[in-house]
Amino acid sequence: MTLNLQNIIPILNANTNGVPEISEIDSVSIDSRSLQNGSGTLFFALAGPNYDAHAYIENLIENGVRNFVVTHIPEPLEGKAFFLIVENTLDALQQFAAYYRNLFHFPVIGITGSNGKTIVKEWLNFLLSPDYNIIRSPKSYNSQVGVPLSVISINENHNLGIFEAGISTVNEMVKLEPIIRPTIGLLTNIGSAHDEGFSNLGEKIKEKLKLFAHSDILIYHKNKTVEAFIVQKVKTFTWSCKDDTADVFIAKTSIVDKTMLKVSYAGKTFDIKIPFQDDASIENAIQCMMVLLHFGYSAEAIEQRMALLYPVEMRLKVKNGINNSTLIDDSYSSDFQSLKIALDFLESQKQYKKKTLILSDIFQSGLDTTELYSRVSQLVISNKINRVIGIGETISAFKSKFVNCITFKNTADFTAAFDTLSFGNETILIKGARSFEFEKIVLLLEEKTHETVLEINLNAITHNLNFYKSKLKPGTKMMVMVKAFGYGNGGFEIAKLLEHHQVDYLGVAFADEGISLKSAGIKLPIMVLNPETTSFQSIIQHGLEPEIYSIKGLKAFLQIARQKKLEHFPIHIKIDTGMHRLGFEENNLDELIGILKEHQSVKVKSILSHMATSDDLGFKDFALSQIALFEKLSSRMMSELDIDPIRHMLNTSGITNFPEAQYDMVRLGIGLYGISNDAAEQKHLENVGTLKSVISQLRTIPKGDSVGYGRRFVADKVTKIATIPIGYADGISRHWGNGTGFVVISNKTAPIVGSVCMDMLMVDVTGIPCKEGDRVVIFGENPTVNYMAERLGTIPYEVMTGISQRVKRVFYRE
Ligand SMILES: *Cc1c(COP(=O)(O)O)cnc(C)c1O
Repeated sequence: MTLNLQNIIPILNANTNGVPEISEIDSVSIDSRSLQNGSGTLFFALAGPNYDAHAYIENLIENGVRNFVVTHIPEPLEGKAFFLIVENTLDALQQFAAYYRNLFHFPVIGITGSNGKTIVKEWLNFLLSPDYNIIRSPKSYNSQVGVPLSVISINENHNLGIFEAGISTVNEMVKLEPIIRPTIGLLTNIGSAHDEGFSNLGEKIKEKLKLFAHSDILIYHKNKTVEAFIVQKVKTFTWSCKDDTADVFIAKTSIVDKTMLKVSYAGKTFDIKIPFQDDASIENAIQCMMVLLHFGYSAEAIEQRMALLYPVEMRLKVKNGINNSTLIDDSYSSDFQSLKIALDFLESQKQYKKKTLILSDIFQSGLDTTELYSRVSQLVISNKINRVIGIGETISAFKSKFVNCITFKNTADFTAAFDTLSFGNETILIKGARSFEFEKIVLLLEEKTHETVLEINLNAITHNLNFYKSKLKPGTKMMVMVKAFGYGNGGFEIAKLLEHHQVDYLGVAFADEGISLKSAGIKLPIMVLNPETTSFQSIIQHGLEPEIYSIKGLKAFLQIARQKKLEHFPIHIKIDTGMHRLGFEENNLDELIGILKEHQSVKVKSILSHMATSDDLGFKDFALSQIALFEKLSSRMMSELDIDPIRHMLNTSGITNFPEAQYDMVRLGIGLYGISNDAAEQKHLENVGTLKSVISQLRTIPKGDSVGYGRRFVADKVTKIATIPIGYADGISRHWGNGTGFVVISNKTAPIVGSVCMDMLMVDVTGIPCKEGDRVVIFGENPTVNYMAERLGTIPYEVMTGISQRVKRVFYRE
């Protein structure tokens, strides 16, 4: 992209302030944390309920960004950059994208629907890429922000666009339509997903169809419900497996591991085979075939290409690698757009200073290769990548564009040389086009794990964080509790994500937990709830901040502070208002205030208390009395010491039930991890952890045989038994066995039979199609941790934190 800044002003209907340093821009950004922002960047300062990018403009100016679209100029920055002032920055971004889209005149496929959008987009890209230079939405960039960003990446050499649009409520599609302006419309499966935003199915369909208002043709699965809402003027091209009045009629038969489709179209019939058997994949494949038919491909070409369809991996996964390394596995795609996204993700997750990029040849950039690898080299430099390992003939030819770079002709050459390349204490991004089979590289670099893993959805954590942020009054700070290894979900990775999202504080239970976070490079301030006197030295040394809850503890800390000649070292004063666990009581306050008055070595950074019944409105009066006492005691400290500390009192259920007591900060815990004590609120949270294992062995036992220790299960009929390698040593309660609990295999529940063993348990899979090696879900969406806790007579906190450290955690982002 090169666009003249002066031309953009009228399009955004903007007022300007300042003088542009350069007349042209070459990229657009909304992410202040991206290292890819440069002097040719036009930065749109978006603002939402939880986030306002105007706050980062000063920093961006320091880092060389010069052009900003804003709603207002932050105070001291007038004259320091060129500002385009608009009423709403998101609207401006969308207007800009729509304008940009209109500069190009090639066919554009617009995809919407409830399910399958991203897979259909990725498959179409695969099927059509031999013949077109395709620009497509990276990952599932289909939102009000994602769509404009996708479209802005079009360049002069593209000749086909594939973009997806996702909406969650009414009036969103009319904004996306002019940005995508599809010439070919594709409606995928309309399921019941995301129904909350619509009052009924009709409204949802009507809204989605707005994407095709100006399309030449609309492709969809013929059915009456959708048909009723289609406006007359758009030409349709339909398929069906039931209704032979559709343009294309399809008969399906399943054969080993594959599905055969007999396709009847325009008086001809032909067969194609696709390598899938599940309904969703078959439907998605047919949608793609319809596009190929519309483009006029021959039956032979369709047959050949469709046979090669593959499962789409949409996630960027973070895994533990060998020799203390962290892997970011994005081994299924390599295009310029998704490289940028992956590099931003690398920056947000990097655990080590050293960063390595393993990169294959890049296809379909729409740029000539010299230009392309110049840009890749720029990205590598701006993202401070220490080492590049290039794999492929093209990237090898451009080796000289990179500073520290080794190249290999192909993946086999790399694996042969693997032992001579040293990997360790670094973060490694593995990014390759499918044909390079980088999954082999991931296999080599991955730390070997046993089959049970706890998968952590980082998007869900972000979602839950934002949900609770949206409940806070403006200016209220957020401390997030990451004690007990992030409630069992992961320490460093979650802390790093929270740092990326700019929460204000982290809270841990013990000094050790804080030390390991600080040593891994976490910069956020960390409060230690339960500092032992013996850990004061290392608390100070690592810049942690202790909670002080007794006169004895305070004196011990002051003694060390004096020795070390500290000044104003931050401490947090805990007041006991009724929990009766830790904290100063009312009758300690005179002494406490007296001591604090005399000592300048410490500074009261915050005053806090903890509620005993915030989750149970049956005890509302008690909770209110705690809040009243906190108000009284903290106010007294503030006036007598003449200080202005951060005051905080609320945990997750406090945020829900006592919003009036937010004070200056809240302490979010379990809610971040997707669990609420309030059923209505639970619906707004996303599941974070999924505990998975596999079937180790299957057997069928006759009636009368027993399973496991003590013969506690006896089969009353012929029974198929699966053994799963997870037991009470992994944190699965023994009470979950003997028919109480179940696991989920192929979406079906399989009850646990007999007692849970130390490292294994057995389940009844009679009637469930499955084989050894198949995935088993222990908890996640079903059963939920909440459900398990209830059945076990405990609380979700105990189930979550009980999952042993020998279970590997795998983090991923959609
Ligand atoms: C654990 C803890 C929290 C968070 O509680 P949740 O119920 O998980 O939100 C807040 N404050 C203190 C002092 C805690 O110990």
